Amino acid sequence: MKITANAVVTIDFEMTNQDGQLIDSTKEDALIYLHGHENIMPELENGLNGLEAGNDFNIVLSPEKAFGEKEEGKVFTVPKTEFEAPKLEVGMQFQTVDEQNNPVIATIVDLKDDDVVIDENHPLAGMTLTFKGQVKEIREATKGELSHGHIHADGGSCGHDHDHEHKHDDCCDH
Ligand SMILES: [Zn+2]
Repeated sequence: MKITANAVVTIDFEMTNQDGQLIDSTKEDALIYLHGHENIMPELENGLNGLEAGNDFNIVLSPEKAFGEKEEGKVFTVPKTEFEAPKLEVGMQFQTVDEQNNPVIATIVDLKDDDVVIDENHPLAGMTLTFKGQVKEIREATKGELSHGHIHADGGSCGHDHDHEHKHDDCCDH
């Protein structure tokens, strides 16, 4: 069977940036997802469409197709006194909210005497990402998986009643 909407797909891959730096890998744990339900990046799904088990892939996503370009307007200087952490280091990441009150990950990019420069761009913004790997397995989704819009580890239930309001986060451990 080929990868199409509603297929449960297992893939192994390495994700690298434009400098060849390894960002993520499924070495320990293959990724299993439900195709066509925005479980993974839409442009990555596009690249996987139609592949079969055993097929290799090499999908390159420009920043626009991945996490967007870096925006200067998302870099802020804030006083050190606003931080509770005892020790601040460049590269530290923490959760905060943007101007629309959406949760974002901010990264400390510079430390000055009294101020901290933080970057609220997505950590992968501005990167061209390459996904190189292999399709391991494809199967039909179960009814439960389709109604939830995500996979269940053993294809069975995910251990909660099928109310229509549950969110992905409070469901299965994935
Ligand atoms: Zn579920």
